[in-house]
Amino acid sequence: MNKTLLLILFAALIVGAAFLAISRDWQAPMVKLTDAAYVNHSVIAAATDNRGLGEICYYLDGEIDGQSCVNTAGATSYELTVDLSELVDGAHEVCVVVEDANPYFPNRVNQCQSYVLDKVAPKAVLESATRYMQRGGGAAVFVSTPERETNIRLTVGDHQFRFVSNEEGTRHFAVFAHPHDVEVADFKPMVEIEDLAGNIRRLLIGTVTKDRTFSKDILNIPHAFIEKKSLEMLNKEGAGKEAFLEMNRTTRIENRAKIKTLLSSAQSREPLWNGAFYRNLGAPKAQHAEHRTYLLDKVEIDQQTHYGIDIAGLAKMPIKAANDGVVIFAEYLGIYGNCVIIDHGGHVYTMYAHLSQMDVSPGQTVSNGQDLGRSGNTGMAGGDHLHYATYINDIPVEPSEWFDPAWLQTRIDDIYKDFKSAE
Ligand SMILES: [Zn+2]
Repeated sequence: MNKTLLLILFAALIVGAAFLAISRDWQAPMVKLTDAAYVNHSVIAAATDNRGLGEICYYLDGEIDGQSCVNTAGATSYELTVDLSELVDGAHEVCVVVEDANPYFPNRVNQCQSYVLDKVAPKAVLESATRYMQRGGGAAVFVSTPERETNIRLTVGDHQFRFVSNEEGTRHFAVFAHPHDVEVADFKPMVEIEDLAGNIRRLLIGTVTKDRTFSKDILNIPHAFIEKKSLEMLNKEGAGKEAFLEMNRTTRIENRAKIKTLLSSAQSREPLWNGAFYRNLGAPKAQHAEHRTYLLDKVEIDQQTHYGIDIAGLAKMPIKAANDGVVIFAEYLGIYGNCVIIDHGGHVYTMYAHLSQMDVSPGQTVSNGQDLGRSGNTGMAGGDHLHYATYINDIPVEPSEWFDPAWLQTRIDDIYKDFKSAE
């Protein structure tokens, strides 16, 4: 009697344990649907289960009878693409039902999400653009996007130029460049307008560009220059080719990377300039995008490109802001020495390098002709001169264009005027 009871109890325990083993070790599968309000062709359901998945089914707009299923064959993760491309644009609900592979007590998860299906690329109109430009120079474009919330960008190959947009986000103005190292045949400035669903409209800007040559120079580097600049720039006693290359290559790359980061992340401002840019006084000493070969003891040791122009006037002469703007940088920066950068809005910047003295600080508003400091020979400068550069976004461009009132009016300001007046 007691024995039978014990046996029954024992059997019940085994069955119970087996039941727990099969059911409790199986956790419900996890499923994640595309996390976006707008989609343009499909939704992805990503399902996972650490002990394996069973069937995954989906149905649209509540029509559970019309559901489609796939067998995942016990995979621990599976991505199901729910194709919506046959549906009409508008609001739709996507539901997925995911089972795990438990043969006796499958766990089931049901998840639904609503989307707005939009398969149409946003409307965009290229309202006006500069007609002619030159390699190494600048131009402007005005685009309108009458419809919905969009993201607009301008690309030239791998380079990006940012827009300034009106409050409604329907009108957009950008200054862009033909970078000096892009061949005329490869110069295809493109505006891309992307809507919330990911549809992209592409507009090719028809600005005609003209090829040009850039100057070349050969520089003899005195040993005394390397020793002096090693102390100043690297804070160590250096001499010869290695010390020179550390400054002219490594430091140059670091300094340019810092400027690129600063300019490509600077806040977006409407153009602040007012008329032609002021050219500081002095004789022109080097041109923009000049190719330089460096000789040490008559042997070639390096080649670099010079971005900007050199102007030599009186020693320690006052250096003036080329136009209205906001100072965004004023500190010692390697090859550039004491360096001031002004943001003129519209993603246009000017740089003043090798200064002996800086009288402005970041955040300060400056006006055309205002003193920024004094010229000098800090950084990679042999003698007192101003290194002056103009940037469109993070691309250095030909500064002399901006000194010319007729060029500025017809190539940039007329386009900006259209942007401001078009209603
Ligand atoms: Zn220079």
